[in-house]
Amino acid sequence: MGETKYIFVTGGVASSLGKGIIASSIAKLLQARGYKVTIQKFDPYINIDSGTLNPYEHGECYVTVDGHEADLDLGHYERFLGIQTTKANNITTGRIYKSVIDKERRGDFLGKTVQVIPHITDEIKRNIKFLGNKYKFDFVITEIGGTVGDIESLPFIESVRQLRWEMGKDALCVHLTYVPFLAAAKELKTKPTQHSVKQLQELGVQPDILVLRSEYDLSINLRRKVALFCNVEEAAVVQSIDVPTIYEVPLKMQEQGLDETILRKMGLPLGEKPALDSWKEFLKRRANATEVVKIALVGKYVELQDAYKSILESLSQASTYNDRKLEIEYVQSEKLTEANVVEKLGHVDGVVICPGFGSRGIEGKFVAAKYTRENDIPTFGVCLGMQCIAIEFARNVLGYADANSVEMDEKTKHNVIDIMEEQKAVTNMGGTMRLGAYECILDKKSKTYEAYKEEHIQERHRHRYEFNNDYKAEFEKAGMKCVGINPESDLVEIVEIPALRWYIGTQFHPEYSSTVLHPHPLFVSFIKAAISK
Ligand code: GLN
Repeated sequence: MGETKYIFVTGGVASSLGKGIIASSIAKLLQARGYKVTIQKFDPYINIDSGTLNPYEHGECYVTVDGHEADLDLGHYERFLGIQTTKANNITTGRIYKSVIDKERRGDFLGKTVQVIPHITDEIKRNIKFLGNKYKFDFVITEIGGTVGDIESLPFIESVRQLRWEMGKDALCVHLTYVPFLAAAKELKTKPTQHSVKQLQELGVQPDILVLRSEYDLSINLRRKVALFCNVEEAAVVQSIDVPTIYEVPLKMQEQGLDETILRKMGLPLGEKPALDSWKEFLKRRANATEVVKIALVGKYVELQDAYKSILESLSQASTYNDRKLEIEYVQSEKLTEANVVEKLGHVDGVVICPGFGSRGIEGKFVAAKYTRENDIPTFGVCLGMQCIAIEFARNVLGYADANSVEMDEKTKHNVIDIMEEQKAVTNMGGTMRLGAYECILDKKSKTYEAYKEEHIQERHRHRYEFNNDYKAEFEKAGMKCVGINPESDLVEIVEIPALRWYIGTQFHPEYSSTVLHPHPLFVSFIKAAISK
C-alpha cells in the first residue's frame, strides 16, 4: 500500500469510555478490508509497565508472547484482531523517559540541554513509528491513554500534533467523547464534547473524526450541532451507543461508515464493504444462546470485573461456541469457608480458581478446590489457581496438612509449590517473573490433550513459583497427573485428575490467547464439561 498510515485515538470528558474498543473496532474494519493492521497503546503513567500496578487501579495485567506485562487494552486488540502484540505495542511515559535518560547518560546528547520538546517528543514519535517502520503495516492505530487535558498526557498529544503536521494525509485523529443525558432536563448534552474538542484544539490537534459515546440514540440534529461547533465534517461524527456486547461495536461503526470515512480522508480507495461473515456468525450464536451455563469465579478481586478481564472474555467466548449464555457468580475467596461452600458453589456448573499473588484469600481457594474435587464439579485452576489445586491435593489426599507454596509459607516442610531456581536471586519486582510464551508438551492420554488436539503448545506465563518435581511421583500415584511439561526445564505446567469430569490446573494463562474467532480450546472444553454436568 506504500506509506504506513497512522490513526490516533484520543479521549475526552471522562476515562473508561472504551477507547480500546473503538480502536479495536476501527482496526477490525480495516483488517477485514485486507489491510495489515496493528494497534498500540501509549500510557501516560510513569511506571515502566503494568506489572507493578495494583489490579484495583488498572485491572488485569495482560502478558504478551514476548513477556511484556501490558495494559489490558492489548487483550482487546488481540481478541478483536487475532494478532499477537509485543512489548512494542505498549509504551509508557516511564519507558520513554528511561530511554531518553539512558541516552543522556551515554552521552548521546552531549552539549545539549535535554528537554520535553524535542527529546521526549522525538522519543515518543520514534516509538509511534517503530512498528510501522519495522513491519511495514498498512495501518498503525495508536491509542493515547488518559484524557485530553491531563498534565501527564501533554507530551503525547504534542507528538500527535507534530506527526499530523509531518505526515499530512497519512495521519488522522479520532477523538472519543461522552454525551451525557441529564435526567432532570430530559436532555442530551453536547457541551462536554465541545469543551473536550476545544481542549484538543488548544493543543494544536484538530480531530478528524468524533465518536460520541452515549446511552441514548443521538439525533441527526445533535450530531450536526457537534459537527458545526467542532469543525468536524457531519459524516465524521458517529455515535457509539451501549450495546449488549463489545463485539457488536465494529458492526455499529461499519453501519455509520466509519471505516469509509477514514479511507476517504486518507485518500485510499473505498473498495467493497467487507461482509465480516464469521464475526457476524459469532454474534448471532451469542444472541441465540439463551440456555445458561453458570460459572463461579473464586478470587480476591471479584468486586472488580477488570481484574479478571481475559478470563471473563475467554469464558464468554467459549460459552458462545457451546451455544450457552454465560452467567458468572463472583465468589470472594476471603469469605469462602467450609461452612458456606455448599451455598456458594453447590449450584454452579463449573468453578474457576483465579490467578493471584500473596496469601490474602488463599484459604478460600483451597476450600473451593476441595469441594469441587470431592463433588466432581468441573474446575479450572489458572496459575495461582493451579498451585492451589495442587496444594489442596497434597493436604487432603497425600495427607500433608502443612503443604503450601513457599510464597505463602517460607518455612513449610511440604513445599509442593516452590520458588523457581532462577527466581531465588531476584530482588527487583518489576519485569522479573517468568514471563511470556513457553513451550509445553502434552501427555497424549490426557483430557488436556483431548482439548488441544496438539502435542506441542505454547502458552504465556507470569509467575515466580512452580510445582515441585520432588512430589511428582507421589501426586501421580494418588491420582493427580502432571500432563503438561516444559521440554527444556522439565517444569510441570499442567495438572489434572483424570478420574474426575474436568479438573485441570495450568501454570500458564490460557486466557491471554483466546480470541473471538479462535476461542481457547481449554476454555471451550471446560464449558462443555460444565454443561454436561
Ligand atoms: N503467585 C503465584 C506465583 O508467582 C501465581 C502467579 C499468578 O497467578 N499469576 O507463582
